[in-house]
Amino acid sequence: MTKKKLIAGNWKMNGNLAANDALVRALVAGMKDAACTVAVCVPAPYLAQVQALRAGSALELGAQDVSPHEQGAYTGEVSAAMLKEFGVRYAIVGHSERRQYHGENDALVADKAKVALAAGITPIVCVGETLAEREAGKTEEVVKRQMAAVIHTNGHCISEIVVAYEPVWAIGTGRTATPEQAQQVHALLRAQLKAATEHVDRIHILYGGSMNAGNAASLLAQPDIDGGLIGGASLKAPDFLQIIGAAR
Ligand code: PEP
Repeated sequence: MTKKKLIAGNWKMNGNLAANDALVRALVAGMKDAACTVAVCVPAPYLAQVQALRAGSALELGAQDVSPHEQGAYTGEVSAAMLKEFGVRYAIVGHSERRQYHGENDALVADKAKVALAAGITPIVCVGETLAEREAGKTEEVVKRQMAAVIHTNGHCISEIVVAYEPVWAIGTGRTATPEQAQQVHALLRAQLKAATEHVDRIHILYGGSMNAGNAASLLAQPDIDGGLIGGASLKAPDFLQIIGAAR
């Protein structure tokens, strides 16, 4: 049985109460016939707002990060249990912007995936190489290293994660990996996960990096691309709805 694709929006640090209201209402109205699972990963202060707006719809709620700690003296952090109270189903972990600007390493990303899973939240684990790494022929080495840390820490629970392959050079740049480039990396990630779990078929491997209304269909047609993690284009309802429509 083929699984439904997953289309997740990553709003990053964008939005305001009025804009969120208009965007989520348009998504809920426009995605009634969606053949895929749809989620929006919103800034933490807007979780309550979007939880209320999505009520009664199939739109799933996601966060953009989670603390590796359960609770306590960790100023500024948001725990998995807190996210869960707001109906969060997904949490992005290890986005390249967090690896790059907040010094997150593979071990921390793996720990974040673990606390999310323990709270019943599906981590969307991001992996991906920089342009320099790709040009040095290190793509496979880098994504496998990032993935191995998460597999090592999460053991048999690994079949419950979502993976997002996001080449750093394609994020927010308008430069997309070709469907063939993306498929090649997705296939090797799938093989790595297959060696770690007999339930590899459950795992969605998303592509992220300048996916838009124009290129979504060709990327989503690849055999190992199970959906998309979408930044910029998820902020515009017509564009995001077109991507959702391409995911069947
Ligand atoms: C992202 O932030 O995960 C992303 C893929 O961004 P964009 O679609 O804007 O490249």
